[in-house]
Amino acid sequence: MSDEGDRGAPGKGLINGLAVTFRTMTKRSVTRQYPDVEPELPPRSRGVIALLEENCTVCMLCARECPDWCIYIDSHKEEVVVPGAARPRQRNVLDRFDIDFSLCMYCGICIEACPFDALYWTPEFEYAEYDVLNLLHDKDRLGAWMPTVPPPPVHDVLGEPSKEEAAAARKVAGPGAPTAARTARVRPAGSPTADAPSRPAGPAERPGATAAPPPGQGSGEGATPAPPPGQDGGEGTTQDGGEGTTPVPPGQDGGEA
Ligand code: SF4
Ligand code: SF4
Repeated sequence: MSDEGDRGAPGKGLINGLAVTFRTMTKRSVTRQYPDVEPELPPRSRGVIALLEENCTVCMLCARECPDWCIYIDSHKEEVVVPGAARPRQRNVLDRFDIDFSLCMYCGICIEACPFDALYWTPEFEYAEYDVLNLLHDKDRLGAWMPTVPPPPVHDVLGEPSKEEAAAARKVAGPGAPTAARTARVRPAGSPTADAPSRPAGPAERPGATAAPPPGQGSGEGATPAPPPGQDGGEGTTQDGGEGTTPVPPGQDGGEA
């Protein structure tokens, strides 16, 4: 068939276009009148990065992994005298933690790389500036975003317990109860395994036993996450990190603000 045949009658395309226009005109507008109407973003939207300074041990992993080199960290070491210890311990003290959001590409690698849960996404996005230099957020400003971090999603109650839960349940159950964590979970009523007769009674179901709370409960929004096991806020750890200096890419002076 020729091109002439494909086009059809003259003016047909115009009529079809006008038909679409009139159909759209009769429908209700879906335009969001931002900023008068706030957008309904998913809770896990990547708006801005928040810093929980207490959890940061200046390990420098985030700065090293950032593909845009837009995290700048400075720190110093100080000695901490621990009663009963043979010698003073050293800890890293965070002096500077800046993220340059004019360079950040919101990949989330820094948050994934942080082993101490010091960085979080928040859905807040209204931090546009007239001056691009003001997009360099220091640790105080990054810390101010923490209350906007949404609570972690509730874990699957029938899923595998975390290592921390298992350890806590074993501690409660005492020695010789390796399956304590699994049985300590509170199963929802009506679940397929809630009333299974063959399941042995766990330590949390015995009189006087205390079940470990499920993750995500009791912390509330904006609550400070507990540091990972083995972390005491960086105290007593001496970490190689170039004395807390951000690695500087070639041709960049480290973004000293
Ligand atoms: S989100 Fe990506 S680009 Fe932005 S600071 Fe983190 S690692 Fe760097
Ligand atoms: S990876 Fe986490 S703990 Fe390490 S310096 Fe970055 S924010 Fe701090």
